[in-house]
Amino acid sequence: MGNSLHSLSQLHTFGLAVAAPHIVEFNDISQILQHQCTQSACIILGEGSNTVFTEDFFGEVWVNKLSGITFSEDNAHHYIAVASGENWHNLVANCVERGIAGLENLALIPGTVGAAPIQNIGAYGVEVGQFITCVEFIDLETKTTQQISGVECTFGYRDSIFKHALKDKVFITKVTFTIPKNVAKVTSYGELASLSQPSIRDIYEKVIQIRQQKLPDPKQIGNAGSFFKNPVISISEFKAIQDRYPKMPFYQVSEERVKVPAGWLIDTLGFKGQIVDGIQCHPQQALVLTNKAQGTGTALIAFARQIIADVAMEFGITLEHEVQLLGRLERITL
Ligand SMILES: Cc1cc2nc3c(=O)[nH]c(=O)nc-3n(C[C@H](O)[C@H](O)[C@H](O)COP(=O)(O)OP(=O)(O)OC[C@H]3O[C@@H](n4cnc5c(N)ncnc54)[C@H](O)[C@@H]3O)c2cc1C
Repeated sequence: MGNSLHSLSQLHTFGLAVAAPHIVEFNDISQILQHQCTQSACIILGEGSNTVFTEDFFGEVWVNKLSGITFSEDNAHHYIAVASGENWHNLVANCVERGIAGLENLALIPGTVGAAPIQNIGAYGVEVGQFITCVEFIDLETKTTQQISGVECTFGYRDSIFKHALKDKVFITKVTFTIPKNVAKVTSYGELASLSQPSIRDIYEKVIQIRQQKLPDPKQIGNAGSFFKNPVISISEFKAIQDRYPKMPFYQVSEERVKVPAGWLIDTLGFKGQIVDGIQCHPQQALVLTNKAQGTGTALIAFARQIIADVAMEFGITLEHEVQLLGRLERITL
């Protein structure tokens, strides 16, 4: 596309009315290998469901349209090699259709397959990293194609090597999933526990139903899913807060660490449902901020900073944003 400004509102699910002059679409790997970036910055974009352009972006926006899925199997495993521009939910639906268990808890998570390993997408007790055995990428400096194993991805809670050593250094082109044929169904989490001996499709449909009830559909109200990560704190910090808030929900992640729902912290401070300058803290899920009434990037940043400051003041916990925020030329950290 040329040098005039192009709207980004359809390219990120938060849907702010911002624009970019340099948008490039990649449909195959050779285009990526041959492309020379003409600007001082570039950002790779899948479906923009974890990205907010807070103002006009003057680097190049590289939109990933790589496509293709290959299924194979042996006695014990299914192997699925997926080009990174494929839609995540379509992959899950395709697996359910073929009777391949494993990914059904991750139904309806927006975005591309290539972005899934970056923050190790997860929902309802399953994280994608447990099934990823290989990630193929182009090293943007050397313009070579490389692969790393799932173990080398060092997956953690909403975390992987792609948020650290490889951040902004690679274009993920393909993800390979290895799913054991005897994989156990995960139904212990939340409302899935009410299902009795469910099939893969039962779990898949229940997850879709719960998500449709609880989360705003980005096609109707702009949002980027959970805005903040759930903080993981030490037992001593946790006990100090629990003394004041005995009903605080928690999930023990190790002997020393406890995960606390950020939505509960935000809700406790009364933010749920509040609208400030067009940005709303979602009435059904305080962890989600939405573009309720033509908000701006400035309003979003101010509201998010207010939440971070108030949570720090009351609970002594520093919330981190899960969403990737972009300014004129680079990423922003609140
Ligand atoms: C309504 C809603 C619900 C959600 N629910 C969940 C949930 O339950 N669990 C969960 O984990 N997440 C959830 N999310 C977040 C989001 O769906 C995931 O983070 C998803 O993986 C983002 O995919 P994307 O293609 O839209 O990524 P984008 O937003 O386009 O990109 C995300 C980041 O990855 C980088 N990137 C993207 N593609 C590539 C690539 N090929 N190579 C290198 N870097 C790349 C981008 O530069 C950016 O920094 C939700 C979002 C929404 C809007």
